[in-house]
Amino acid sequence: MSKLVIANFKMNGSKDFIESWIKDFFAEQESANSIIVALPSPYLLTFNNRGLALSGQNVSNEDSGAFTSQLSAEMLKDCGAKYCLIGHSEARQFLTETNEIIKQKFDQLKKESLQPILCIGEPLKIKEASKTTDYLTEQLDLIDSDQENLIIAYEPIWSIGTGLIPEINDIQLAIDSIRSKFHKPIKVLYGGSVNSSNASSISDKTDIDGLLVGGASLNPKEFAKIAQLC
Ligand code: PEP
Repeated sequence: MSKLVIANFKMNGSKDFIESWIKDFFAEQESANSIIVALPSPYLLTFNNRGLALSGQNVSNEDSGAFTSQLSAEMLKDCGAKYCLIGHSEARQFLTETNEIIKQKFDQLKKESLQPILCIGEPLKIKEASKTTDYLTEQLDLIDSDQENLIIAYEPIWSIGTGLIPEINDIQLAIDSIRSKFHKPIKVLYGGSVNSSNASSISDKTDIDGLLVGGASLNPKEFAKIAQLC
């Protein structure tokens, strides 16, 4: 079955960089998997209709109004985004987003028929205390267990950008615990230091529905390879 492979550019790139990334990516791309690219928002409109499904990297929890610096779900939709990351650990950390705020963002996206990609994951001290499952449960607490078409990205915080990945068994345990919270089938992705050397083992040895790739996605050839191996 086709998997979801998502590139998260974070706050990287420029108009020229993305232009040449798209050219190089399509020159290499042979995967039947679904590709989504989370571009920095100023570039969404520019690179809409270029053969890539686009995602925002965050959204406001409000409709509109005096919220200088924020972007509404309606604006993301206007710019061509079909998806949006929410709850990314960097947003939770730097913007002090709580689970309550993230749930409001989830609702804003749903209202505009955008697909949320809800990121969750534990910090190192929680993993070391063997409390990962409880921590993930708490992060999902506000999401209705009857919700349809959910996409959840399991991204252990200690794995993001560090080159460290969990044991395959631990990834599967996290996936199982996430799936068990919901009554309907959901998509669960893994993110954290994915590259072309570890993508196939994560993908083949777990029942993951796809990968969320940060740093390695900035290299279009590497990302095309990951998409093929997933
Ligand atoms: C991310 O930030 O979503 C991510 C997965 O980053 P990296 O691949 O660089 O660890």
